[in-house]
Amino acid sequence: MDRQQGSVLWFTGLSGSGKTTTAKAVAAELKARGRLVEMLDGDELRATICKGLGFSREDRFENIKRIAYVSKLLSRNGVVVLVSAITPYEEMRAYARSVIPDYAEIYVNCPLPECEKRDVKGLYAKARSGEIKHFTGVSDPYEEPVRPDITISTDADSVVSNCSKILKWLDDRPRPMQAAH
Ligand code: ADP
Repeated sequence: MDRQQGSVLWFTGLSGSGKTTTAKAVAAELKARGRLVEMLDGDELRATICKGLGFSREDRFENIKRIAYVSKLLSRNGVVVLVSAITPYEEMRAYARSVIPDYAEIYVNCPLPECEKRDVKGLYAKARSGEIKHFTGVSDPYEEPVRPDITISTDADSVVSNCSKILKWLDDRPRPMQAAH
């Protein structure tokens, strides 16, 4: 039997930068190609397997460790996993890269003022007022990725064009992400 190989596409960036929006677009295209796809959204996981974890550096790291673990389980069974989680520290991204065999890091770059203007979930306003503490970009750090495999800009480029860029990168790899046989 021709087993599909899995991969993990790890979207990192500020809240509201467009991780989930872009990941959804890529997931839809991969599904259309016949791939098994799963999306792991940081916010959703914090309500389930990561429930109870806070936003200290240690808790954020534990959060990422759990997501990386589930990603690895799925990807080794042929699933393409799309993770959208802020993943603010380089150390965490290096960890994910080290434990996941086929890890691709996608830096979703969007300037803080633009993320704040979007304020999709109303969280920046709460962070500015002090209602939310340890908010990435406002009162907690976001370390820019030092070696992302792909960087997309969501204030300059459209979802469609960023999605194409990611798919092209996947297809141009030595082991392209083609349809199932
Ligand atoms: P994140 O998952 O990073 O927190 P979301 O994807 O939930 O971010 O939200 C990003 C917001 O920015 C959405 O409301 C989306 O419609 C908007 N947006 C505007 N332009 C873009 C773009 N080019 N790429 C992705 N999102 C965009």
